[in-house]
Amino acid sequence: MNDERIRYLLHGNNIPKGAYVLYFMQQSQRVNDNHALACAITLANERKLPVVVFFSLDPTYPDGNLRNFTFLLEGLDEVRAELISKGIGFIFRIGKPDANIRDYLLEAAVVVLDTGYLRIQREWRKNLYFDIAENYPHCDLVQVETDTIVPVNVATNKLEYGAYTIRNKLLKQLDCFLDQAEFTAPVQSYDLNLKTDPFPDDYLSFLDSLSVKKIDISHHYHGGYQQASQRLSNFISKKLDQYPNANDPALDLTSKMSPYLHYGQISPREIYTKVAATDATPEAKTAYLEQLFIRRELAWNFVCYNPEYDVFDKMTDPWAYRTMNDHLDDEREYLYTIQDYQDLKTHDPYFNACMRELLESGYMHNYMRMYWAKKIIEWSKSYHEAFSIIKTLNDTYLLDGRDPSSYAGIAWCFGKHDRPWQERPIFGKLRTMTEGGLKRKFAIDKYVARWQ
Ligand SMILES: Cc1cc2nc3c(=O)[nH]c(=O)nc-3n(C[C@H](O)[C@H](O)[C@H](O)COP(=O)(O)OP(=O)(O)OC[C@H]3O[C@@H](n4cnc5c(N)ncnc54)[C@H](O)[C@@H]3O)c2cc1C
Repeated sequence: MNDERIRYLLHGNNIPKGAYVLYFMQQSQRVNDNHALACAITLANERKLPVVVFFSLDPTYPDGNLRNFTFLLEGLDEVRAELISKGIGFIFRIGKPDANIRDYLLEAAVVVLDTGYLRIQREWRKNLYFDIAENYPHCDLVQVETDTIVPVNVATNKLEYGAYTIRNKLLKQLDCFLDQAEFTAPVQSYDLNLKTDPFPDDYLSFLDSLSVKKIDISHHYHGGYQQASQRLSNFISKKLDQYPNANDPALDLTSKMSPYLHYGQISPREIYTKVAATDATPEAKTAYLEQLFIRRELAWNFVCYNPEYDVFDKMTDPWAYRTMNDHLDDEREYLYTIQDYQDLKTHDPYFNACMRELLESGYMHNYMRMYWAKKIIEWSKSYHEAFSIIKTLNDTYLLDGRDPSSYAGIAWCFGKHDRPWQERPIFGKLRTMTEGGLKRKFAIDKYVARWQ
């Protein structure tokens, strides 16, 4: 494993203490190709200690609901079974992870963290850091980055302007970070009896008992590495070669990896290496890897170096705020509420179709996400209101919502990582997207028919 993935945050006081190495699994919910898990096993084997994986499901996680928690639990159940079969302990708890994990710190020789840069992820990690620093001086704390190909801070130490400024920095590091996280068997199997909540077998009634918001589960997408892996194989064998045409929503040529990447159920490195190893055309591979690697890691750069990534007044660039300011009072021909969108009551069949895809499946085609958000900007009283509606719908219904790519994608609709375009009503210099464009470029009625 490339050592640059690993950061030693706290060194214990060298008093050998602790009965296990504890991996606080959060961002990277997988066994396969998980550098944080691999690191935990290595550190445990050096000390001849067992490894315990701790996961705490926080029912109050922002925009957590029946749909997205079900997807998470489907994946976690697979992780749990696989860990146990490999002699690794698995603790499942309900509630705030940074509080629940305290029950295990006294006996932990080392705590290993995976990495995420969203506000709540940072907060949990920060609280744990101070807790260990103040109260558990024997304990080492180690953080490992495994959900980007190139660790965010290694790629660059600043907020990048766009794909064109980060691309070469990422490509320069690429070869050093195609390091697979090889699974080594633990020397010491887990045979302790640590406190754990029972893992649910009926997700719906379990989540009902936690009073999470009732958003219908997706019947199109199910969570877990097996699902991700099958979808990836299918994509590679049937669609990858045609990926340069994937912008066309009618063709359904995208990989649908985003929900799995969001929960860390598959690693971007695994997808990258599998795609790169195919005999698809170089054009197809480059087009796909541009999205998976450059665009996705630009999104991680965005949330890492702009902690206010989801705050309207802070998320985009000065030119974009200036142009929106100039067009604040432009007349809006249509004004809709968030309820109108959810009830599919706009005058635009393309918008209603992608809204239905979102509501029913928990996914939306990338091109339609752009169109959808641009239309909400066009049909809202203010940019501020549009931002809030887009973010709410995105994070409530999309299985890949609440991700770095969510906030970069939404901010992109307000000019971030984009450039000024020709001035137009309402949008000013923000890029517009029109019905005419959809009809001209694609067989868009086929997409509408699919979601009618
Ligand atoms: C308004 C708006 C909202 C968005 N919300 C989200 C979101 O909530 N979650 C999310 O993961 N993505 C979001 N995106 C980015 C993009 O639309 C999705 O990542 C993509 O549609 C996922 O589908 P796929 O896996 O089939 O993509 P593919 O085309 O198969 O691409 C492969 C992978 O590349 C990455 N990728 C593709 N396009 C982008 C992009 N534009 N930016 C960053 N990474 C990308 C994703 O990880 C994706 O899984 C949003 C974009 C916009 C414009």
